[in-house]
Amino acid sequence: MSAGDKERDLLSGFQPSFEHFSTQALHVGQDAEQWTSMAVVPPISLSTTFKQVAPGKHTGFEYSRSGNPTRNCLEKAVAALDGAKYCMAFASGLATTMTIAHLLKSGDGIICMNDVYGGTNRYFRRVGSEMGLQTCFIDCTSLKCLREAIKPNTKLVWIETPTNPMMNVTDIKACAELVHKHGDIIMVVDNTFMSPYFQRPLALGADICMYSATKYMNGHSDVVMGLASTNRDDLYQKLKFLQNAIGAVPSPFDCFLCNRGLKTLSLRMRQHFKNALAVAQFLEADPRVEKVFFPGLPSHPQYKLTKQQCTGTSGMISFLIKGNLENAKIFLENLKIFCLAESLGGYESLAEHPAIMTHASVPVEERMVLGISDTLIRLSVGLEDVEDIIEDLHQALKVAHPNVVTSPI
Ligand SMILES: *Cc1c(COP(=O)(O)O)cnc(C)c1O
Repeated sequence: MSAGDKERDLLSGFQPSFEHFSTQALHVGQDAEQWTSMAVVPPISLSTTFKQVAPGKHTGFEYSRSGNPTRNCLEKAVAALDGAKYCMAFASGLATTMTIAHLLKSGDGIICMNDVYGGTNRYFRRVGSEMGLQTCFIDCTSLKCLREAIKPNTKLVWIETPTNPMMNVTDIKACAELVHKHGDIIMVVDNTFMSPYFQRPLALGADICMYSATKYMNGHSDVVMGLASTNRDDLYQKLKFLQNAIGAVPSPFDCFLCNRGLKTLSLRMRQHFKNALAVAQFLEADPRVEKVFFPGLPSHPQYKLTKQQCTGTSGMISFLIKGNLENAKIFLENLKIFCLAESLGGYESLAEHPAIMTHASVPVEERMVLGISDTLIRLSVGLEDVEDIIEDLHQALKVAHPNVVTSPI
């Protein structure tokens, strides 16, 4: 008896299947035409494919990698917030960076702000270089440095402002003017730290505004995603092609969550700013703290520029704790409300040690030049009651520096 015969034999002892069972399970109640409902909240459209009325004749969607209704809702909303004609969503911030890098070809040059997100630095240095992209890292807060770095093969300038973790602020408008005077160079601003609520790089002259939506845009620490907005038709056409051709797209469920997160972006950003300002003032006055880096404080060297190009600043603060690595570790291990974790921009307060955690991939000599020392601590100030946030910092500083006398808070 063959295997097929044996199977038939075993099956024949049972009742026949209910008629049309599989067909019904697949098709009853599932008509594509019905989705014209007036649902107030955008549905999560998980379908990977979309019905065509005739071959090649569709209603805007064909296949979910090239376009998806839930992703479309999110992209439209972000485009509006960025003051952009177009926005595209990607699987992560770095997937966005990679897709933008594919606008270039082997031999092209990139100028990147030296004090960028560690993963951006790693991408250009370790991945882009393998594909023939030549990246130089410079201090873009100096227009002189930027002007000198522009070479005939420069095709992309990558800026992040304020930077991570040193909170250096770059004059977006001045950079864009300088860069665009030197020919067809694409200027990208990583706007992750600010969100469009506080800063709109496209209006200041940038060609592409990108985000790790994993941070403030989604704001709830439960989605990894990236976004890129532009007003340039040519860049949109190319990026839209690459979004589909490379395929680093987010899931519809993540798009739904991020779209939902956007609904409270303005409320969250206002409160992050308010809480961070109070925390920065507390830290600046504290004898256990060496130095505070927060662009919303008048003591920040680029405070004036910040007020010029931003409508506020976010919950991101860095500071140097007095002492050494041991003091920094004790402080971080004794926080109770702040969670010791990488990432930022969620509703919850996070603290981390850049040299050991987020910026470990940046070579140590570079870290030293940038100021990412053993006593540097980065905070993402969340939405808890600010009195509780400050009390938490105060008590952890006390464990790290038991002998320093402080005035009551
Ligand atoms: C997190 C982050 C990225 C990378 O984004 P992912 O979503 O983690 O891939 C890029 N830029 C900045 C400023 C970030 O904070």
